[in-house]
Amino acid sequence: MGQSFETGAEFAAAMDRKDPLAHFRQRFCFPKTKSGEECTYLCGHSLGLQPNTARSYVEQELHDWCELGVEGHFHAQNPWVPYHRLLAGHTASLVGANPAEVVVMNSLTVNLHLMMASFYRPTKQRHKILAERGAFPSDQYALQSQIRFHGYEPEACLLELAPRCGESCIRDEDVESMINDQGESIALILLGGVNYATGQIFDMEGITRAGHRKGCIVGFDLAHAAGNIPLRLHDWGPDFAVWCSYKYLNGGPGCLGGCFVHERHARSWSLPRFAGWWGHDEASRFRMDPQFRPMAGAEGWQLSNPPILALAPLRASMEIFMEAGMDRLRTKSISLTRYMEFLLHQRISQKFSIITPPAPQRRGAQLSIRIPAGARDFSDKLAAAGVIGDFREPDIFRVAPVPLYNSYQDVYRFVQHFAAALG
Ligand SMILES: *Cc1c(COP(=O)(O)O)cnc(C)c1O
Repeated sequence: MGQSFETGAEFAAAMDRKDPLAHFRQRFCFPKTKSGEECTYLCGHSLGLQPNTARSYVEQELHDWCELGVEGHFHAQNPWVPYHRLLAGHTASLVGANPAEVVVMNSLTVNLHLMMASFYRPTKQRHKILAERGAFPSDQYALQSQIRFHGYEPEACLLELAPRCGESCIRDEDVESMINDQGESIALILLGGVNYATGQIFDMEGITRAGHRKGCIVGFDLAHAAGNIPLRLHDWGPDFAVWCSYKYLNGGPGCLGGCFVHERHARSWSLPRFAGWWGHDEASRFRMDPQFRPMAGAEGWQLSNPPILALAPLRASMEIFMEAGMDRLRTKSISLTRYMEFLLHQRISQKFSIITPPAPQRRGAQLSIRIPAGARDFSDKLAAAGVIGDFREPDIFRVAPVPLYNSYQDVYRFVQHFAAALG
């Protein structure tokens, strides 16, 4: 943690030479500018880059489909019926779960609905959902529609956590006191593991403990946490979690999402659930019984046979993750984000502020920078310089120095362009 940084370009180059993960950069495709140079890509929080191996993984499935037709379900090089299981082990290790606790299926918002169908069961006494104010819009729509589906009103049921006046992140102690004060009326706590706007990490272990003490169900949206920070879902003990695979996990646009259901619910046959044939007991699935018998564990929530062509690139990426290792990635991530923060503060003074928490343990690979008036023009200038980040109205520019493929020199270049664009 006592690492010190220097401002010069040579320092960035030296850091890259020393970086044990630097070679992973070559395993990804970087978008090019119009003039053919590699972009400074800092947008892994929105869409991760394509692993070089993704293409051949997809081509393998196209080939087997071409050669085998329906036989591919059982006789493809990687048979399609159990294909999703090729991802279970890696996925489980990535989120700190047992393989039976995770499944890759659907998309994030669909999985959130499926989980709420089982785990949000409001009663007169206990009907509230605790969420973040300004959560990702899809989550807000999902929560509101679930509340209405059960005949309640979002105005009365949605408890929203907000930063204190003048602050941009939510304090852990405020989450805890909200749970302690209102816990008896809360049916479900549904928070992001990492807030998409600020990059703030929530204390998932503490929140789960506090929520369970009050009898609440606890779920997390890990869209910005999976592949970004180390997770120990099984030990922390939330009831469920959902995430997408196209952000830090590099699964490709619209790739399937992930879902975690804690082991304690693996055989909760009485839970209501929206069922489909892929969640049916495997041994008898093809007997086409009219009676649904769910598989144990997270797989029991599957609905459909998954799109193999979309799973293939995710396999490619997960293999790279396993090689790199989440702990090594986290170490580099902390250093890279601190380096970016250091350079920003050194190079530029008043004109911007960083709303992401300054403490490394409270943030992932992200800085959200509040920029002054004329910000739109500012992000256009950056785009023209080949810097790809993410602008959110009205004034937030979010950048993700992703440890798997970004370098210290990327960060250095970004700050040069950032300073130039601010003028
Ligand atoms: C990216 C993201 C989503 C996107 O949902 P999809 O169903 O994958 O389109 C939802 N919630 C959060 C918090 C996100 O960051």
